[in-house]
Amino acid sequence: MNEFDLVILGGGSGGYACALRGAQLGLSVVLIEQDKLGGTCLHRGCIPTKALLHAGEIADDTRHAAEFGVNAQFISIDMLAVNAYKDGVISKLHKGLQGLVKSRNITYVEGTGRLVSKNQIEANGVIYTGKNVVLATGSYAKTLPGLEIDGRQIITSNEAMTMDYVPKSVIVLGGGVIGCEFASVWSSFGAEVTIIEGLPRLVALEDESSSKQLERAFRKRGIKFEVGVKFASATKGPEGVTITLENGASHTADVLLVAVGRGPVSANIGYEEQGLTMDRGYILVDNKCRTNVPGIWAVGDLIPTLQLAHVGFAEGILVAEEIFGLNPRPINYDGVPRVTYSEPEVASVGLTTAIAKERGYDVVELSYDLAGNGKANILKTAGSIKLVAQKNGPVLGVHMVGSRVGELLAEAQLIYNWEATADDVAPLIHAHPTLSEAMGEAHMALAGKPLHAHG
Ligand SMILES: Cc1cc2nc3c(=O)[nH]c(=O)nc-3n(C[C@H](O)[C@H](O)[C@H](O)COP(=O)(O)OP(=O)(O)OC[C@H]3O[C@@H](n4cnc5c(N)ncnc54)[C@H](O)[C@@H]3O)c2cc1C
Repeated sequence: MNEFDLVILGGGSGGYACALRGAQLGLSVVLIEQDKLGGTCLHRGCIPTKALLHAGEIADDTRHAAEFGVNAQFISIDMLAVNAYKDGVISKLHKGLQGLVKSRNITYVEGTGRLVSKNQIEANGVIYTGKNVVLATGSYAKTLPGLEIDGRQIITSNEAMTMDYVPKSVIVLGGGVIGCEFASVWSSFGAEVTIIEGLPRLVALEDESSSKQLERAFRKRGIKFEVGVKFASATKGPEGVTITLENGASHTADVLLVAVGRGPVSANIGYEEQGLTMDRGYILVDNKCRTNVPGIWAVGDLIPTLQLAHVGFAEGILVAEEIFGLNPRPINYDGVPRVTYSEPEVASVGLTTAIAKERGYDVVELSYDLAGNGKANILKTAGSIKLVAQKNGPVLGVHMVGSRVGELLAEAQLIYNWEATADDVAPLIHAHPTLSEAMGEAHMALAGKPLHAHG
């Protein structure tokens, strides 16, 4: 019997979260995956990049050990050992996930699936029929016209993840999250890094103040960048890859990482044939992830929402709960926490100043400099917490830069999503000395009673 309550295509963050929650609710589930359970996030995305970044952090800490009175010497990066550490983390999580899927009695099918009717997916010559079909085929690394990925000199994040050497020099095309994270890793590993970004600033989706601080920190680290310039062409030669920009400038490096965004995996899977409404390859859905075809749902990077693993998880869970009849609340995408895990980190939730103003809010802003925070001084990190708030109203956005500030998002997202005001947060006691104290101090200052802040 190949009939299920849920037939899910794609075993990445979105697909497997839907499968786990569906099974937990007692639905019969088949999960079809052509590669490895866990998808991009576990094998080619979040987890491996964060392992590389952590290795980079240790390299930097070793270089700067003497500043803390510790005698240590940075010698070199052993990429084979770095990869072994990284792959060990992936493998452990992969095994755990496989065990979880098995324990929930989810039918797991390894194979390439295709939507062959409005309620059927075919894989390995077998038809799986579902009361509901959930599409979760994810995304791929895009490139630009005239820029052919050869996997050696011109690479995407896929190859960057598995390199067995540290290049002497790298050009990173694209100063978004993925580009800045790799720029940070390679700089920590000792490569000379140049970022080229077409938009006017690095991490351009973030608040302008965060971009400026990241740019300052990158400059201090020796990471070069050009912003507001467009790529024109690339040529390969004995000295490496040379790219020319529309402003006539050129750069040469051992390796060119193309990090210009990710596009949906939606071609040749039968989506168009079944009449799904699409835009530039993305499947369009309503606020409950329903497509225009009754009984077909889509989640994760395949739909035009934030391309983040935790968004995929949330969408997968939402769909399972909606199908079961729990009538879950739609996702408020402004309330999704966002982190660029470079050194320093950039973290935010809620609206930027520009978007808050665009939406007509009477905006007040407050920036708390981490220079006033004890733990930030102990860590020797610079940065700030910026609050965007409605005048006499709730906090509309929290924007942070500094080492480890991603960890502060847990509180920031509660503040934003529970529509707290500065007066609600100011009396909450934060442990001393932690970075989280800066969150308290920022709200105290916004409430008109700054403690460790001037003015
Ligand atoms: C370098 C990098 C770093 C990242 N870092 C972070 C981070 O730190 N935090 C964060 O939140 N997000 C991060 N992301 C984004 C995150 O990885 C994605 O948002 C997330 O993986 C999307 O989940 P998904 O289920 O939509 O797609 P995917 O994880 O891509 O899963 C889709 C799955 O579908 C399978 N599939 C496709 N077509 C078929 C078919 N026809 N038949 C069967 N199977 C099929 C694929 O093999 C794949 O396993 C990062 C991404 C990259 C590339």
